[in-house]
Amino acid sequence: MTPASTPPRVTLVGAGPGDPELLTIKAVKAIRRATVLLVDDLVGDGVLRYARASTRIVHVGKRGGCASTPQAFIHKLMVAEARRGERVVRLKGGDPFVFGRGGEECDALRTAGIEVDIVSGLTAGIAGPAAIGIPVTDRRHAPGVAFVTGHTQDGAAGKSGPDWHALARSGLTLVIYMGVARCQDIQASLLQAGMHADTPAAIISQACTPRQRQAVCRLADMADTLQRNGLSSPALLLVGEAVRVASKLPVLDARLLRAAVA
Ligand code: SAH
Repeated sequence: MTPASTPPRVTLVGAGPGDPELLTIKAVKAIRRATVLLVDDLVGDGVLRYARASTRIVHVGKRGGCASTPQAFIHKLMVAEARRGERVVRLKGGDPFVFGRGGEECDALRTAGIEVDIVSGLTAGIAGPAAIGIPVTDRRHAPGVAFVTGHTQDGAAGKSGPDWHALARSGLTLVIYMGVARCQDIQASLLQAGMHADTPAAIISQACTPRQRQAVCRLADMADTLQRNGLSSPALLLVGEAVRVASKLPVLDARLLRAAVA
């Protein structure tokens, strides 16, 4: 417990993509200091080893389609624990501000008069590609990168998906989070928007964990490659010329991977 005079605060911490060695030193210090840890389901167990035995660990997973803790409940819990004087750490996979609802949580906490500290984490969309040798920018191939969601909330007012037409023309490396379920639609949208069928693409599942699997293919084969190789969520879809840097490694060629698992 912190002294009563200390204003209540919560630290939002990015736990990186899975490998505990990819945690920042600041993240490890925050986890060690925490008396209450609220943990998302993308956070690897190895990361939790840094918590003290006395720390209360609350799992508040939010995997699409599965039972999850309502966001409003998470907000209430953080506020209540911080007001009780607990050292609250909200631990999220990757970076808290990249598809992590970190902004919403900051708003809710600040509205309740709670101070918020942010500890950035290594987002899967950079670490995952790097783990298989793909630079997300490369001056020979891609002048920049776009992090986009492949998951569009049906019926949510004002929340349309990414502008695939604009992205297809952008020349940027497309790093698509939450895209597994809609891979076929995303592939079709990009092809319809004029992207070449031979544009290099990659799928990286459970990057930076012992269960990591990946395949490199053409855009036109992306959904088929995903399915044939049984690459499951959490996974990233990558599309763009920078993927060529990895596809020079024969071991990552989807045809070889298929042969190896057949
Ligand atoms: N805040 C997280 C992203 C959370 S959104 C970050 O910065 O990384 C959840 C999506 O992230 C998943 O659907 C998947 O697309 C991606 N993701 C997270 N961890 C991953 C991992 N280890 N390997 C591949 N994709 C991952």
